[in-house]
Amino acid sequence: MAIKDIDQGEDITQIRHGIRKLCESFTNEYWRRLDRESSYPTEFVRSLSDAGYLAVLIPEAYGGSGLSLAAAAAILEEIQRAGGNGGACHAQMYIMGALLRHGSEAQKLRYLPAIASGELRLQAFGVTEPTSGTDTTSIKTFARREKDHYIVRGQKVWTSRAEHSDLMLLLARTTPKEAVAKRTDGISVFIVDMREALKGGMTIKPIRTLMNHATTEVFFDDVRIPAENLVGEEGKGFRYVLSGMNAERILIAAECVGDAKWFIEKASEYASNRVVFDRPIGQNQGVQFPIARAYAQMRAAELMVRQATILFESGQDCGEQANIAKMLAADASWAAAEACVQTHGGFGFAEEYDIERKFRETRLYQVAPISTNLILSYIAEHVLGMPRSY
Ligand SMILES: Cc1cc2nc3c(=O)[nH]c(=O)nc-3n(C[C@H](O)[C@H](O)[C@H](O)COP(=O)(O)OP(=O)(O)OC[C@H]3O[C@@H](n4cnc5c(N)ncnc54)[C@H](O)[C@@H]3O)c2cc1C
Repeated sequence: MAIKDIDQGEDITQIRHGIRKLCESFTNEYWRRLDRESSYPTEFVRSLSDAGYLAVLIPEAYGGSGLSLAAAAAILEEIQRAGGNGGACHAQMYIMGALLRHGSEAQKLRYLPAIASGELRLQAFGVTEPTSGTDTTSIKTFARREKDHYIVRGQKVWTSRAEHSDLMLLLARTTPKEAVAKRTDGISVFIVDMREALKGGMTIKPIRTLMNHATTEVFFDDVRIPAENLVGEEGKGFRYVLSGMNAERILIAAECVGDAKWFIEKASEYASNRVVFDRPIGQNQGVQFPIARAYAQMRAAELMVRQATILFESGQDCGEQANIAKMLAADASWAAAEACVQTHGGFGFAEEYDIERKFRETRLYQVAPISTNLILSYIAEHVLGMPRSY
């Protein structure tokens, strides 16, 4: 039985229908082939871009459709629910927020209309480094000012979509950690033109992963970035990136809700039809209950995504809700994935059922873009007032 959507009004319903229609052209076989070949869904991203879906959060004044975060969340949820993977392009929606909120008017005019039209792709977000991990303020990549340029040296890891992006939002230190009063100071955000950087000291090395995610290592060997590509004020970049994290968490949570719905629909349908011992396996409560539990978890997560979105859209603090939504949704999609594999028995492992692919894909969300442990420590410290643990 198809899972019913929460009513969010006619506009969101239209968006859901639009995405479902678009996704019909990108069949399970399409995603399976890309997974097998570890290749990027160029045609899919192009279609989304051409239809304007990747520009929903860009204001109309800059060529976008100026829609709400709820619209962006519905788009990503529906992509996952259709069996696809929004990871190929989701970053453009939230990375762009740093430029929108903190960029100069000249930067917005230069980049946003081109991003909205699909002429420029802003898909790469260079934050994580091999030695810093989750501790972002320990990044070592350094941007040294030299007249009207910054010279960047260092390395990023897990920079997804770098090979399929014209621009990267880069986080680099501009003052050493030892020389700042607060460790969050002295970090800056830059727009890197990848096409120029590749000609001048930047190299990209793909990382093969459990699932198809186009992720990479990026090396900066004295790459020159024009000073005009600094976003906002020098040294304030950590705050700029943090301010976009809630949107990222909400959108990733929406993807997890979409994954959970896909797994639950598949599992309940199979459980109702697969006959073993002369009766449908779904007649056994041992088969029903994990699916029903995952459904309940998904519904709770979906409500939290909704609440976080409403707070975000009204400009209120939503750190607690966005973090909880991300954790509950990632847990729900993982529980649904596990139940779906178990319900399908041996067939859950067969490539042609797509379950093993989606199972591998949804596992990521326990770790990235923020791990479950770090969300729990956020709740403990910032919501419950317990001592900082790190
Ligand atoms: C496929 C993929 C795509 C990614 N894409 C991007 C991207 O585009 N851009 C980007 O910048 N990054 C990206 N990342 C990086 C991702 O955000 C990090 O992997 C994630 O933040 C965790 O960092 P880490 O891998 O260094 O783990 P670590 O920080 O080394 O942590 C390892 C484990 O220890 C736990 N841990 C660490 N510290 C604590 C603590 N104080 N308390 C409790 N537990 C703790 C963590 O929860 C985690 O489970 C991606 C990662 C993957 C796998």
